[in-house]
Amino acid sequence: MKRLDGNVALVTGGSRGIGAAVALRLAEDGADVVLTYESNAERAAEVVERIKATGRRALAVQADSADAEALTASVDRAAGTFGRLDILVNNAGAFLVGPLEDMGPAEADRTLAVNVRAPYLASRAAVRHMTDGGRIISIGSNMAGRTPFPGFALYAMSKTALIGMTKGLARELGPRGITVNLVHPGPTDTDANPADGPNAATITAFTALGRYASPPEVAATVAHLAGPDGQYITGASIAVDGGFTV
Ligand code: NDP
Repeated sequence: MKRLDGNVALVTGGSRGIGAAVALRLAEDGADVVLTYESNAERAAEVVERIKATGRRALAVQADSADAEALTASVDRAAGTFGRLDILVNNAGAFLVGPLEDMGPAEADRTLAVNVRAPYLASRAAVRHMTDGGRIISIGSNMAGRTPFPGFALYAMSKTALIGMTKGLARELGPRGITVNLVHPGPTDTDANPADGPNAATITAFTALGRYASPPEVAATVAHLAGPDGQYITGASIAVDGGFTV
């Protein structure tokens, strides 16, 4: 018997990077997984095949998290397809950074829609399906705890908003036995922030461990929160950042 046997999880932005690692890890722990993606159908299909190879059921749904209707429909589809919904992982993120003068209304709207409104609306849709023991886990950022580089005001603002959302939802959903938590990754080797990218050495220098995380290292903490061992953790912000924020 695996820790998540019989559970169904939805992971937003599960076609690549941290989201793909979370989707795979939850499947390895026994969950059936629905993942959303924005545009990369091929990579999403690859993750679905890898999940199926573990013996679990999987489905990829194209849904831009900025599109409230598509996002909400993906939540309902996950519950409808596999008959229940136990775990929501709000992972998809917009990473728009640059000088203040370049980050105007369009960038602000996009960032807030994907990084803040979507986790809120997906959580709202998911709890309609969840029963006791449900889990909501959002992916924040080390930039919410420490913002050492210019150009990150919008991104840091959006990820910091998730701290308040997480606390508020934890209070509201605690009586139903649903836990709500936030994981703040540090620099993690993905397409968005490759460990061999031009700024990697500078970023690495801010960590205590002197290296990037691999996506499965972040997924391990998400899996802990999603499983029975995480049942008394709620409203928490947990850094998985190699000491970036210490
Ligand atoms: P990647 O760019 O590697 O992957 C992004 C994933 O999210 C892809 O599956 C992509 O889909 C999907 N996605 C992006 N935008 C949307 C959208 N609007 N709607 C639906 N899906 C979307 O990113 P990471 O894995 O690096 O980042 C994942 C999360 O971790 C983000 O919230 C990010 O802010 C956070 N984070 C990452 C850090 C890092 O160093 N990597 C550090 C701190 C936080 P598609 O394949 O279709 O494009």
